[in-house]
Amino acid sequence: MSQRTDIAAAKNWSERALKLIDEQGLPPEPDVYAVWYAYATGQKADLNKEIDQRLSSGSPIDAHTASDLRRRYVAEKDLSELALESGSRLSSEVDKILKLVEATSGDNSEFGNSVREASQGLTSQSTPNEVHSAVEAIVEATRSMEMRSQLLEKRLQQTKAEITELRDNLDQARSEARTDGLTGVANRKAFDEVISREIKRAEKEDGSLALLIGDIDFFKKFNDTYGHRTGDQVLRLVASCLKGGARENDTVARYGGEEFAVIMPDITAEAAENIANEIRETVMGRELVKRSTGETLGRVTMSIGVGIFRRGDAPSALIERADACLYAAKDGGRNQVISEANPPEDLRKLAG
Ligand code: GH3
Ligand code: MG
Ligand code: MG
Repeated sequence: MSQRTDIAAAKNWSERALKLIDEQGLPPEPDVYAVWYAYATGQKADLNKEIDQRLSSGSPIDAHTASDLRRRYVAEKDLSELALESGSRLSSEVDKILKLVEATSGDNSEFGNSVREASQGLTSQSTPNEVHSAVEAIVEATRSMEMRSQLLEKRLQQTKAEITELRDNLDQARSEARTDGLTGVANRKAFDEVISREIKRAEKEDGSLALLIGDIDFFKKFNDTYGHRTGDQVLRLVASCLKGGARENDTVARYGGEEFAVIMPDITAEAAENIANEIRETVMGRELVKRSTGETLGRVTMSIGVGIFRRGDAPSALIERADACLYAAKDGGRNQVISEANPPEDLRKLAG
């Protein structure tokens, strides 16, 4: 399970636990939280069974029962393990919540004591003054309890905001890890994931899938002539041509140094070949201008191979056929598209 999923799950369990506690009007004490958190995870079948039995027989899970259940089912170690699984930041968030719950239950009993103390002094013989000061004391205790609740609410909001930020950071880190830093398209790692996933999907749904692999022609010469930095600028330009030509659900990836791939689900061989040719023409149509000097550098061209998914294909098989088409396009003179669905005579053996 990824850390991201861990956190989403822990948040979900935590919310469910708090909802169950609220629904049953239980005191927000650590034992109660621990038991219902464990119940929400569903990871201890015996605990869930016992709770379900108690509930269906109408016996409530009061604080005493919760302590007992916690002792028997949720060892101290297990609870912290659950939190640790989600990474140390989340674990400290969970700790904070537990501390808050503990602090509130402390406040509750303090509140109860103040009220008890104030009312103990009252009898039927109490003077109006005594009644008045007892009422004052109760009002004061209530007010301070209210302030503590507000503080608790505020702290819970802060914790929630921190958890949300943590989740956003993780989302961002995850997306950065799948993006090519130079061109902004998917990187090789993301390509590998998407191609496997799409092949599985096509296999399962008896669907179609095309893979384009494109390589810039004579790029080494371009680099040697104009320098690596200008070469990088061209890579970005080519990536943007691919992005512009691909459909919304296609995945454009930087497959290698100056090689790009487009994964195209649900597409006919003819449509894939047409899009490949449109991309090729767009690349060829761009006049390159050196940003720093405004100098015109001419044009680059691109050769593209189109592989068409066949049932039973492993990713490597589809990639190999797209690659063979790309090399046929290079051999055939570059700046062209060759599809395995429509190969020149000497490549017919590929169509198998
Ligand atoms: P061909 O038409 O056969 O593909 O010729 P080519 O020169 O493009 O092919 P080759 O594979 O010999 O050279 C690829 C070149 O791509 C080598 C290197 O100079 C360049 N290249 C690879 N990665 C990068 C990169 O990240 N930035 C830049 N600027 N150039 C790169
Ligand atoms: Mg190459
Ligand atoms: Mg090349």
